[in-house]
Amino acid sequence: MPARANAAFDYDVAVVGGGPAGSSTASRLARHGRRVLVLERETFPRFHIGESLLPWSDEIFHAIGVEPKVAAAGFVHKWGATFFSADGEIEQYADFADALETPRPQTYQVPRHELDRLLLEHAASCGAEVQQDAQALEATFDESGVTLRYTAGGAERAARVAAIVDASGRVGFLARRFAERTYDPLLKNVAVHAWYEGIPRRTGRRAGDIRMVTRPDRGWFWLIPISETMTSVGVVLPKDVYAATGAKTLDASLDAYVAETPQAAALLANARRVSEVRFDADYSYESKQYAGDRWVIVGDAGAFLDPIFSTGVLLGMQGGIDAADALHAGLAANDLSRGRFAAYERAIGKRFRYFRRFAVGFYDPPFRDIFFQPSESSIRKAVISVLAGNWRPTFATRLRLAAFFGIVALQRYVGIAPRLNDFDPARKSAPVSQELAAE
Ligand SMILES: Cc1cc2nc3c(=O)[nH]c(=O)nc-3n(C[C@H](O)[C@H](O)[C@H](O)COP(=O)(O)OP(=O)(O)OC[C@H]3O[C@@H](n4cnc5c(N)ncnc54)[C@H](O)[C@@H]3O)c2cc1C
Repeated sequence: MPARANAAFDYDVAVVGGGPAGSSTASRLARHGRRVLVLERETFPRFHIGESLLPWSDEIFHAIGVEPKVAAAGFVHKWGATFFSADGEIEQYADFADALETPRPQTYQVPRHELDRLLLEHAASCGAEVQQDAQALEATFDESGVTLRYTAGGAERAARVAAIVDASGRVGFLARRFAERTYDPLLKNVAVHAWYEGIPRRTGRRAGDIRMVTRPDRGWFWLIPISETMTSVGVVLPKDVYAATGAKTLDASLDAYVAETPQAAALLANARRVSEVRFDADYSYESKQYAGDRWVIVGDAGAFLDPIFSTGVLLGMQGGIDAADALHAGLAANDLSRGRFAAYERAIGKRFRYFRRFAVGFYDPPFRDIFFQPSESSIRKAVISVLAGNWRPTFATRLRLAAFFGIVALQRYVGIAPRLNDFDPARKSAPVSQELAAE
């Protein structure tokens, strides 16, 4: 059934969710001259996890015209990532200036309540109608359009639109109804996190590094400087490790994870917690489809990838741009049937799986052994370009990445580099490693 657009709509497109994915979709559509309604159930600013950006976000900010506002917002500048072994004896720096094919190596660490508000206000300034404290309730599809019921300021309303974008994050307003999620058996992790003051930083450019500390149980800590004084600290752990923790409260469990990870304990020795401790079951998932007749899914609503390489905001916002372009073309052609979105669906799945390979790798001992080897090679620079968010590597970079995974395979079967004692010997042949070997 080809879905037909017509002029009898209140808006061309309704976007459910005003996070980064919804804002980029709405900004792009409005800049294409489309009439857009954005519904956000919260009133911004609101807390959200996901505070470290990647350099390749820059071209997205540029594409929707928000780049000068982001640059002027006073966010901490991020130029790279530092990885530590649990005991702090091994330190590996990924400097984005070394990243192949990356036009601008500097990005930002962001309190998300500030970034998300800025992005949503930008969507409004582009011409989208943004309603906060407005929750989408139900979408009814028919031959000629979609009726969206929602509440705004306590009153129930309805809008008639040509198409709907689900940008509702992990809620999955349409995704849970139409697009079955498949959970990733290799990335069953949880996160416990809070904000701290009093954590020392390096000076100069490296003051803004994200710092990662690995743990023997395949977990890891993040330390993200989100303001002059504040640092976001979180630990990501395999679900089974977390389940085996005896601590009764989140506060006590976070304290215990810090205490048993020497490098994290050293960095937090004089730290003071200044927020509540929060928990996320951040299991990774993909959807079986990302679009249908008159609907498209963007961002976490469709797929969520483990936070190890901070890809969430980039994937969500780039998907938003792609979705907006596909919708704009579909509206122009008077055809919003699923077939119009085939290229979009392929692009989302491909980009997700490309980054997933690296995310899964980080939980695999041979990958970490090689990753922690000092090197100035172009293979390493290709890997750093992925960490910078390069989602469309050239053929030459793809070859280097293939070489990297070849070296990881050699490490697995032959052992060409020292094994990190970072891993508990009892876990050296843990199931993740075996499953990966079988992949
Ligand atoms: C532990 C952890 C650490 C992370 N770290 C990073 C990181 O360092 N860097 C990074 O880039 N990413 C990170 N992420 C991922 C990142 O948080 C997400 O990928 C990103 O927020 C996705 O954006 P989104 O717009 O799709 O969804 P969201 O940001 O979740 O926005 C969805 C919005 O939809 C609204 N909404 C939901 N339902 C409705 C409804 N019915 N009606 C109206 N509005 C609705 C919500 O209120 C919300 O504001 C992390 C994630 C986790 C769990």
